[in-house]
Parts: sequence; C-alpha cells; structure tokens
Amino acid sequence: MKPAPFEYHAPTSVDEAVRLLGMLEDAKVLAGGQSLVPLLNFRLARPAHVVDINGIPALDRIYERDGGVAVQALVRQSDAQRSELLQKLCPLVPEALKHVAHQVIRNRGTVVGSIAHADPAAELPAVILALQGSVRALGPGGTRDIPAESFFMGVLESALAPDELAVEVWFPAFTGPHGLREESRRHGDYAMAGVVRAGDRLALFGVAPTPVTADPNEPTRDLQPSADLEATPGFRKHLITAMTRELFAA
Ligand SMILES: Cc1cc2nc3c(=O)[nH]c(=O)nc-3n(C[C@H](O)[C@H](O)[C@H](O)COP(=O)(O)OP(=O)(O)OC[C@H]3O[C@@H](n4cnc5c(N)ncnc54)[C@H](O)[C@@H]3O)c2cc1C
Repeated sequence: MKPAPFEYHAPTSVDEAVRLLGMLEDAKVLAGGQSLVPLLNFRLARPAHVVDINGIPALDRIYERDGGVAVQALVRQSDAQRSELLQKLCPLVPEALKHVAHQVIRNRGTVVGSIAHADPAAELPAVILALQGSVRALGPGGTRDIPAESFFMGVLESALAPDELAVEVWFPAFTGPHGLREESRRHGDYAMAGVVRAGDRLALFGVAPTPVTADPNEPTRDLQPSADLEATPGFRKHLITAMTRELFAA
C-alpha cells in the first residue's frame, strides 16, 4: 500500500524543527523511518505533516555528559552498537542493540527513534528503564529531561508532547553486572518476552503495554501479559521466570 497524502517538511535546524512541530496540526517526526514508514504504508498512521529531521546537521553525536553518555537524535543504531564510548561506559546498550531487528534496519533506525516509538516489545525502552536514563525533549517552552520511569505511557505512547522533539537520550555510566535475554520466534523479530538486568535492577519487555521494572526474586508478580498468536500469558510468564533466573545466575 501507499501512504495517505501528507505534507513533507525538511527543517535544517533543531529550532526550525521545533517551530514546525509547534505550528503544524497533526505532525509526525521522521527519523530512521523503520517504524514510521511501515505504519504510513499500512495507513495505520495518517499524519497531515511529516517533519523529516535527517537534514539537520550536528545531531548525530555520542558524547559524555553528567556521568553518562548522551546519544543524539540522528545516531543510527549500528553506529551506537560500534561506539567505543558506549562500550566503555554503558556496555549494556551496544549489547542490547545486537538484538534489535537486522543489520540493514539498524543502519538506518535511530536509538532515539526506537525509544520515542515506545513499542512495548522493543529492547531499548527496557534498557533505558533498567539503567534509569532519561530523554531530553525540546519544545516551544524549552528543554526538559524526562526520566525513563515516567516516559513510557502505553502502547506506542510516550510522555513527549506533539510539539516536542526528542533531541537526545542519556544513559548513566554502568559497568556492573548486566545483560539482556529475549525469546522470539525468529532472530530479529520483536520479542515474545524479554528481560534486561542492570545490577540489581530488572526491566521486562514484551509482557505489558510498556516496559516495566520488576523484582528479580518475583519477576512475574502482578504481571498480566496478553495472549496472541505467538504466546499465551502463561508461556510469557514462564519465559520471564526462566530468563531472569539465567540472567541473575550469570
Ligand atoms: C522488520 C523490522 C523488524 C524490527 N525489529 C525490531 C526489534 O526486534 N526490536 C526493536 O526494538 N525494533 C525493531 N524494529 C524497529 C526499528 O528498531 C526502528 O528503527 C525503531 O523502532 C524506530 O527508529 P527510527 O529511527 O526508524 O524511527 P522512525 O520510524 O522514524 O519513527 C518512529 C516513531 O518515533 C517518532 N520519533 C522518532 N524520532 C523522534 C524524535 N527524535 N523525536 C520525537 N519523535 C520521534 C516518530 O515520529 C515515529 O512516531 C524493527 C523494524 C523492522 C522494519
């Protein structure tokens, strides 16, 4: 299918992008396009305007700040996976990226786009939650840092306002015990269920409308995963218990 008609905008600065988002009714940011373009093509999203941020220079840095690493909005997932800074200070991020889709998708998809997209079965939202990172949003009112704990609101719903651009995400430095396990039908597919460890913190994905933190000793307490063609709620709970045990025994 082809997308429903929309007006295309290509700002060349962050300020211009934010001005457009504040001015236009029903606009969507286009970053890597690896989630938005399929949604447009299937007409599951029909925005009136698309604001393509790919022409904004100097928005593709990975740099150290505030005891952690900031990843700007145009950093591709494959570049973050290869980043020496992330490998040194936040090795969980490059490790998790190996599980995100396939190499060709990671060459285009962005780290920030994956988090802004807020897919409950995606890896990076659970990683930023486990690490207690944050999202830096810029809107007409200025800049605000949104902690990961309050960023994910529902399926594909985040705390970003329609007129805000996520300019970067921030991961605190963490080199303690960490890891990610997931189970999917085929390599590169979204996970049926997954677990992320950062020290004593555990985050789960694929089992609730948002990524959630859980007690490593009772990871499925209060969990009510949904059923679909891939897995029953009971099977998802079983996977979470088994993967948590494995991750914390490592
Ligand atoms: C076949 C396939 C398999 C995949 N498998 C996985 C997988 O296993 N795990 C996984 O995590 N992902 C998977 N993905 C998704 C992929 O990781 C996407 O790249 C990612 O989810 C979105 O990043 P993007 O840069 O492409 O964002 P886009 O598609 O451009 O945007 C996605 C959404 O985020 C918003 N957005 C993006 N950037 C910003 C910003 N800076 N500020 C505000 N809003 C923004 C957009 O408006 C849109 O609503 C898969 C995709 C495909 C096509």
